[in-house]
Parts: sequence; C-alpha cells; structure tokens
Amino acid sequence: MAGNDTIFGKIIRREIPADIVYENDEVLAFRDIAPQAPVHVLFIPKHDPIATLDDLQPGDAALVGKLVLAAADYARREGFAENGYRVVMNCRDDAGQTVFHIHLHLLAGAPLGHFGALGR
Ligand code: AMP
Repeated sequence: MAGNDTIFGKIIRREIPADIVYENDEVLAFRDIAPQAPVHVLFIPKHDPIATLDDLQPGDAALVGKLVLAAADYARREGFAENGYRVVMNCRDDAGQTVFHIHLHLLAGAPLGHFGALGR
C-alpha cells in the first residue's frame, strides 16, 4: 500500500531513533519501545508499508516469508533459537494493532506462557 506512512516509516528513514538490531535488503528489525518479554524485536518490511494483514495480496507471500525468515535468522544468531521464541502479528482492533505498517513481533528470553506476551 503506497503512501501509508507511520512511525515505522520514520524509523526506516532514520528520522527518529530506534535500537536497530537486524537489517537486510527488505527487512528492518528494532527493539520494541515497550517490551513484553526480555527480547522483544519488531520485524518490518522496508519497502512495502502494507497497513494490515488484511491488506496482503497473493503477491506479498514472499515478503511475509522474509519477515519470518529474518526473525528465525536473528533468533539463531542471538543464540535463543534452541530455547524457543514466539512470533505474533496483530491485525486491527481486536488484536490490539496500533501501528498500521505490518510487523512481526519476536518475543523470547523467558518462558512466555499461554497467552500473555502479546498473545493478549
Ligand atoms: P501492534 O500493537 O501489534 O501494532 O504493535 C506495535 C508495537 O510498536 C507496540 O508493541 C509498540 O510498543 C511498538 N512501538 C511503537 N512505537 C515505537 C517506536 N518508536 N519504537 C519501537 N517500538 C515502537
């Protein structure tokens, strides 16, 4: 969705600060400002600020896969893949979505329980 600018767009353009922990050609990841677990990192597409999961089209399949793969890569690099982690993507009001630029939450660093830690 072109023209969909949010606070995450400002982070991508380095207009506001963020604790960036991972980046590749298509994905940027930074620490959540209000962490819900010892590790709480957001993975976002750099070039496609799609507002919600409900706006995804079949052609976006690779993009979503790249968010997931980036999170898995980061978990391995940081050494917590073996212990485990959770990924969450919130869509609209009932899931509590607050930033309308799709993003994947990566939560780790402690037993996360069911639900809580963004499982709401
Ligand atoms: P969601 O509720 O799924 O839309 O998630 C949005 C997340 O973005 C929340 O967990 C916020 O804490 C986080 N967030 C909002 N603004 C910032 C920011 N400037 N830097 C880092 N994380 C942010």
